[in-house]
Amino acid sequence: MPIKYLDNSATTPLCPEAKAAMTEAMEVFGNPSSLHAAGQEAHTLLNLARTRVAAALGVKAVKPGELIFTSCGTEASALAIFGTVYAKPRRFGNRVITTDCEHPSVEEAMKRLEADGLEVVRIPTKDGVLDVEAAIAALEQPTVLVSMMMVNNETGAHFDVARVFAAAKAKDSRTVTHCDAVQGFLKVPFTPVSIHADLVTVSAHKIHGPKGVGALYIHPDIIKTKRIIPYLPGGGQESGLRSGTENVIGICGFGAAAQAGFATRARDCAHMTALRDRLEGKLRDMGVQMNLPAAARAPHVLNLTLPDIKSQTMLNFLSAKGICVSSGSACSSHSTHVSPSLAAFGLSAHEADCSLRVSFSARNTEDEVDALCEALEQGIGTLVRIRR
Ligand code: PLP
Repeated sequence: MPIKYLDNSATTPLCPEAKAAMTEAMEVFGNPSSLHAAGQEAHTLLNLARTRVAAALGVKAVKPGELIFTSCGTEASALAIFGTVYAKPRRFGNRVITTDCEHPSVEEAMKRLEADGLEVVRIPTKDGVLDVEAAIAALEQPTVLVSMMMVNNETGAHFDVARVFAAAKAKDSRTVTHCDAVQGFLKVPFTPVSIHADLVTVSAHKIHGPKGVGALYIHPDIIKTKRIIPYLPGGGQESGLRSGTENVIGICGFGAAAQAGFATRARDCAHMTALRDRLEGKLRDMGVQMNLPAAARAPHVLNLTLPDIKSQTMLNFLSAKGICVSSGSACSSHSTHVSPSLAAFGLSAHEADCSLRVSFSARNTEDEVDALCEALEQGIGTLVRIRR
């Protein structure tokens, strides 16, 4: 049975460019930190990938330390958050500002900061719209870090982090600004400069690269003023900011995927928008509730609430037909608590329990959208309803 994969916010299939780059890199076994020829061969590959990922982020002539490869997006955000809050000289202020619907990689880090006595302010994102004025008001107190996601992984809401980061920098340039752009990278246009971000997290497996590779962009000023320390201390790889021998093969795949995705991003985004609009039109005709952000949104995500059918029941029904979607966020689908993203979106626990996320890549087709809608209609007509 051919798989119809509509869960691209969870992960994406490898693109041919990434596969080819990784296959080639498998022949290069040197340790990139070694000074001999074998090591330098690997080092050259790393830096080529660094240039490619940086270019896809709109950063030309990337300087050493400006793009740090990590084991995933989660680790890149941990480096951003713990690395800046615990940097010496003593941080500026005791306050950290974030949103109420961050991915667990950021939210769980925030809980640790709270346990360590920092004040964490979570700005509301009602109906998928960030309360920028509340964020600006929160900046009245000295703030060490503002960490906000660009695109929500469950609803596709595209937050106006640029306005908040600009306000933070205007208020006090010592405040560090971090954006988790894992779902925004190559989906919405931005550069670190355009959003006033000192730090930007990206991840390879959301852009048709391999799993287990991420990166953190770091503005040169942060490095110059030593406002970040490593989260993983050790041998001093990655300009001393991320120890551990680099995953050269995976990083090469990331570089190739970023380069390929950057070249086709406009066309890809237009295609994903068209697919999402087609799905939206059909769901509207079917009378299905959709959780659409009231303002800007990324092209690849659509969240919907089924009429009194558990998302897990529908997910299994669709999966039996080879159609892959997600119930809420795939990263947290093993837990039973109501997703903060959907709660912030105004959904009750019952509605959240009946919500599905459909997420596209440029590889999806209109036929796949039509097959999904046909299967959803069948499921809605036949599956057991839960009582409210
Ligand atoms: N941030 C967001 C918004 C995500 O959607 C994800 C993964 O789903 C992550 C961070 C974590 O990325 P990784 O799986 O590379 O750790």
